[in-house]
Amino acid sequence: MDYNPRESQYWDESRLTSDMKLAFDVCNGCRLCHNLCPSFPVLFEAVESHDDNVEALTAEEMAHVADLCYQCKLCFLKCPYVPPHRFDLDFPRLMLRSKAIRTRQHGMSRSDKFLGDPERSGRLGTSMPLLANWSLTQPFMRKQMEKRMGIDHRRHLPKFAYMRFSQWVKKHRSVTAAVDVALFTTCTVEYHEAGIGQAALKVLGHNGITAAVPSDLRCCGMPALDGGDIAGATERAAHNVMKLVDYAKAGKKILALQPTCAFVLKQDYPVLLGTEEAKQVAAATLDITEYLAGLMKAGKLKREFRSSPGTITYHLSCHSKVQGLKKAAADLLGGIEGTTVNVVDRCAGIDGTWGLKAEYYDEAQKVAKKLTEAFQLAHDTTACSDCALAGLQIETAADKPPRHPVQILWEAYGLDE
Ligand code: SF4
Ligand code: SF4
Repeated sequence: MDYNPRESQYWDESRLTSDMKLAFDVCNGCRLCHNLCPSFPVLFEAVESHDDNVEALTAEEMAHVADLCYQCKLCFLKCPYVPPHRFDLDFPRLMLRSKAIRTRQHGMSRSDKFLGDPERSGRLGTSMPLLANWSLTQPFMRKQMEKRMGIDHRRHLPKFAYMRFSQWVKKHRSVTAAVDVALFTTCTVEYHEAGIGQAALKVLGHNGITAAVPSDLRCCGMPALDGGDIAGATERAAHNVMKLVDYAKAGKKILALQPTCAFVLKQDYPVLLGTEEAKQVAAATLDITEYLAGLMKAGKLKREFRSSPGTITYHLSCHSKVQGLKKAAADLLGGIEGTTVNVVDRCAGIDGTWGLKAEYYDEAQKVAKKLTEAFQLAHDTTACSDCALAGLQIETAADKPPRHPVQILWEAYGLDE
């Protein structure tokens, strides 16, 4: 199967059709993923409607299955037929290829264009945060956003920061030549959740680790990939690799402040770019929680805390899980004396930009049902998630925004005082 967009056969529609039918045939026989997401039940229903004949699936039916894939990658974790198995099945990448070919043929929808460029909306929103944040609460404005940009008017959206993270860094930090790690700050932290970046720098500094904050980093590219915009994602990947590769070459770790972005740097950059530099950046990248949990395990993280958050209800995001970080946050936060961590291992149904779209909102709410119930039940505990987008769903359920693990550490150390 073709998963490499740098090769011409990736873009061949007839090859895609035969690859998809092969994959669908394997899945129809296996059905292990029947309850993971909406893609699989819709696929199996369509195949059954053609008397189990995958060859009879129409182009529209196949495109619908692909559009219902929100790239959580959980099926990849579960699948026994992933490369190097001879079936060579990477279901999410195949669904992405289907979207990419259709995007190249027909262009991007207005919604995908808008959601695929979080830097543009971030710059605009943070240039007039009062007005932008007020607009997000106004039913008329939200209906207009839904009509023009396809963002569901019921979806709780992230507020814009009053000071961008990079502006805060310029104001509060002096440049230092000797650094131990570099931050991949992410659009979420730059435009919306600057507090996560501040807490990360303080927690690292408290543990004697000096972090560089490279300027002018771009979006990781995941929102562009969601819309099938391979060229847009590749351009962003090339820019970020150029800004980060010297750290990797110098043996420094690159710490991403959001799990989806860490995943994209690790797994997608080498595929999109195919260069030695992209592989070096990928090999040097860690999620910040992964890095801190590693320090704790090695006995290199300070264990003197001033307070405990008590019981934490921690959301394990799909993109943390797919990086093998099932226990990282629980180990890290459980290391704070007097703290109990209960893990909610459920999808939030947002996964990048998918769950923000009006056309998928109801489906996304169904996907997130178990997570929503868990956080409603645990409303009197400390809500926590590494993923700020999943946090939108959690905030609605728990009636308070979840904290990132570094923010919980920052408070437990007493660095917020
Ligand atoms: S990546 Fe996630 S959404 Fe996509 S098909 Fe697999 S389980 Fe479903
Ligand atoms: S993706 Fe793999 S595990 Fe899931 S249904 Fe298909 S073949 Fe089975």
